[in-house]
Amino acid sequence: MIEGRCHCGNLHWSYEGDPGEATACNCTVCRRYGVLWIYGWVGEEIRTSGESRYYARDERNIEFHFCPTCGNVGWWRGHHPHSDGRTRIAVNIRLAEPEAVGQLPVRHFDGLGAFEDLPSDGRCVADMWF
Ligand SMILES: [Zn+2]
Repeated sequence: MIEGRCHCGNLHWSYEGDPGEATACNCTVCRRYGVLWIYGWVGEEIRTSGESRYYARDERNIEFHFCPTCGNVGWWRGHHPHSDGRTRIAVNIRLAEPEAVGQLPVRHFDGLGAFEDLPSDGRCVADMWF
């Protein structure tokens, strides 16, 4: 299990299983937050706790949840569940300890332009940590 906690300790997330890779996205939101994501479903491999607030550009879209005390971004989640009742979520692995996630390969996603994966450059999370 991988766990993340915001700087003040209010927000906590856990991820059960192997996420396989971490996603770096260059979209207008992610590039500002500087986040790295691993994906799952609410209440399945990913669980969250702590009182968060969220930002959503519009209410049909996704919610970016952050800690109202320390400001760290903990996760995004769908504003509405999918048709099967499951809700998509991704947690920010920058809230995890480096040794827990450092070896995950990084998937570069062009969320700004083509909205598809970019070719792998062979880097892992530890290469992008700073
Ligand atoms: Zn906090």
